[in-house]
Parts: sequence; structure tokens; C-alpha cells
Amino acid sequence: MFHKILIANRGEIAVRIIRACKELGIRSVAVYSEADKNAMHARLADESICIGPAPAGQSYLNIAAIMAAAELTDAEAIHPGYGFLAENASFAEIVGESGLTWIGPSPESMRIMGDKVSAKQKMQTAGVPLVPGSDGAVDNIEDARRIAKEAGFPVIIKASAGGGGRGMKVVHSEASLPNAFSMCQSEAGAAFGNNTVFIEKYLEEPRHIEVQVLGDKHGNIVHLFERECSMQRHNQKVLEEAPSAFVDEETRAAICAAGVAAAKAVDYVGAGTIEFLMNPDKSFYFIEMNTRIQVEHPVTEWITGVDLIEWQIRVAAGEQLAFSQNDIKMKGHAIECRINAEHPFKFTPSPGTVELFHAPGGRSVRVDSFLYTGYSIPPYYDSMVAKIITHARDRKKCIRRMQRAIDELVILGVTTNQELHQRLLANPGFQNAEFNIHFLERWLTQMH
Ligand code: ADP
Repeated sequence: MFHKILIANRGEIAVRIIRACKELGIRSVAVYSEADKNAMHARLADESICIGPAPAGQSYLNIAAIMAAAELTDAEAIHPGYGFLAENASFAEIVGESGLTWIGPSPESMRIMGDKVSAKQKMQTAGVPLVPGSDGAVDNIEDARRIAKEAGFPVIIKASAGGGGRGMKVVHSEASLPNAFSMCQSEAGAAFGNNTVFIEKYLEEPRHIEVQVLGDKHGNIVHLFERECSMQRHNQKVLEEAPSAFVDEETRAAICAAGVAAAKAVDYVGAGTIEFLMNPDKSFYFIEMNTRIQVEHPVTEWITGVDLIEWQIRVAAGEQLAFSQNDIKMKGHAIECRINAEHPFKFTPSPGTVELFHAPGGRSVRVDSFLYTGYSIPPYYDSMVAKIITHARDRKKCIRRMQRAIDELVILGVTTNQELHQRLLANPGFQNAEFNIHFLERWLTQMH
């Protein structure tokens, strides 16, 4: 096992990883920007090193500074968390070439899955169902027109190198296709340095269902069931749950098997997530694989009892998974609410000083956060400041527990989306699990 791990991240996920290190008896090294010298992760880690100025480009994305910090502290492995450099295959390669261990999949797996066109091609050969559309890249308007007509409008044009909900355009008619196609190409080129785009049928009422997988370096790969993340705004998830209330046993077996096949196709090591869209008739299609730990991993940890961060570290150190597929059982229901420092309905960011922070507690409530009373939330990074996770025997009880947990939460001094969660949890559509990926945005529009 490693003696020391450097965590190339900040916020709640850095705190989460430091906690796992402590429980495993591993020393932790935090890196922080000048804006984060009072940040929780910098305080909790055994050692902390400043890696540069506030803008992420000069600190949390600064590979040279992070590698220097690792060398200086004699760290043996690097955990990238999520966001920042977590899906940067070149960084993973540099870490490996420097004689350190990358806590994640191989750079090869990351490269294949990081490019949506190559990912879809790989999935096709693995027999994983794909959204109908172009088989690969589309580079001219004639092909775009033919493929869109075959798939039927509306279609979605996506940048192969896109991510985080960026680089996508929905097209409703043939007339608007040429313009959207060339705009998507040039925007992709400008944003990702790669103007490759492809076309998919735009599914109108799908739910977002994703499968958690875990692989070791000995060829073992298991799934840890599904999560549903249909509550989204601008492609950003707001509330997640496990299991999905929409997925029956038969569909669960099929989608989880597809997740394992996807991971096997790239010899996946570590924790990963295969994202699918599921139609009302329960047919499902691969959209992408995230080759990292995800924000919503705690709901899976709670229904399965598997500590995903611990296992990321263990498999990176070469350990074999200590359980097989049949050992992994699902118990009860878990929900996660993402608490963001932003206006609950206008979504304008609200950085500033936290005058009072009081976390909810009690039975089966987990809070992953980096807030404390007196902390100043810097304006440079993500607005998510806490995750509240609850677990209960069934979904109805879990919702009740989350309602009382959200009511207990006190964050004064900055505006948060607490009220959005209160209203959403009380909404009959949410309570009856009658929703799709458009539910939240449609509901917000009606509100105004
Ligand atoms: P990103 O890598 O930017 O997250 P994804 O391919 O995962 O992009 O898609 C993000 C979101 O966009 C999905 O969760 C879904 O809400 C929507 N989306 C993507 N593809 C389709 C599609 N073919 N039909 C309908 N919605 C889609």
C-alpha cells in the first residue's frame, strides 16, 4: 500500500479523499491555490503545498506545479478527484512516466473514452447499444443532412471532444441544420482544439441512468448497480439517487451488463461510470463514459456498502477486488442533493463569507462539504459547496429524511439553492418518480 498520496484537487472531493487516506493509514498531501490557503482540504491534509495563483489554469490545472509538489513531498501516487485534470490522459501519462502511480484508469482507456467518436466506435464493437445517428465523425453538410433525415428530426450535433454539457446543439428542422452544423464545428474547434462533430437522434423524453463500475489490475470488473441523475439544469446534475425508481429488475440486469461490457472493452481499472439515456419504453443507449470518480458516488456507496474511494486507492496499489459480482447487494435507497452557492432560481453565483454553517445530522444522513463558519467561498471555482446524502429502507422514507435534513441545514452569509431542493423534494412529479431529463427546466420555466 502507498505511504503518501497527493490529491490534485480542492473542495469537498479533496476532503473526501483525505478522509479515505486517513482511514487507510496513508499520509495525504494537499495542493492549494493562493485563494485556497484557508480551505478545509489544505487544513485537513498531513501536508499542504501552495501551487500557484487563484485561477485554476495557474494552479489546479498546472501540471508542472503539481508534479513539483509531488516530488518535493515524496508522494507515491496522485489522486485527481473529478474535474480539473481528472480526465486528462496526458497528465495520467506524465504521472506514470515520473514513476508515480495514477489513481485511475490507464491513459489508453482514458483516451478512447475521452473522445466521443472513438468511444462510440469501441462500444459498437462491444455490443453496447448506441443512440441512432452517424457511425462516426461527420465532416460535411451533405452527410449531415442525410444522417439527420435518416435518424429523423430533432437531432443533436455533438463535439467529439466535448464535455461538461458543452459543445452540443439540438436541431429541430432541416432548414436550421447547415447553420447549426458549421457553428458546432467552429465552436468545438475554438473550445476543445478539435472540430470533429457527430450526429445523434435527439431523444425527447429520456431519463439519465448511469452504471457504476469498478475494475482492478487483474482483469476483474464489477458493477455497483445504477444511479438516476435525471434532475438536471443546463446538463448539470442537481439531485441524484440510487437505485432508479424507473428501472425494473430485468432492465437493471441488462443495463448493468452493458456497463460491464463497456468497461471490459477498454480494460478498465478503477472507478468509472457509463452514462446511458433511457426511453420511456426502457430501451437504453450509451452516451459516454466518465473515467473518474463522480460527484454522486456516495449514493452508490450507501446502497452497496462499498467505499469507492478506498477501492480506487486499493486497486491502484495493485490489490485485487475483495468481492465478486455476486457479493455486491443493493440495500435501501439513497438520495444526494447538491448544495450550490447560487441563487435558488436565478442561478447567479453567490461567493462570499459564510457567517454560519450548521450541517444536518441524525440517522442515515451524510454531509460531504468543505464549509465552516467564517470561511470565504472564493469566486474562482465550482459553486458546489456541500452534498447532503440520505439513506433509508425505501425511496419514500429516503425523501422524508432528505426533507428534514435539508430543513436542518443552515448556511448564512451566502445565498444557496437550499430552497430549490425543498421545493423539488415536495413536488409530486419528483415524489412519484414521474420525470425525465427535462423535468427540472420545464418546472423552473413554469415557476416564472
Ligand atoms: P457531456 O460529456 O457534455 O456531459 P453527454 O453526451 O454526457 O455530454 O450529454 C450530456 C447531457 O445532454 C445528457 O445527460 C442529456 O441530458 C443530454 N443529451 C445528450 N445526448 C442526447 C441525446 N441523444 N438525446 C437527448 N438528450 C441528450
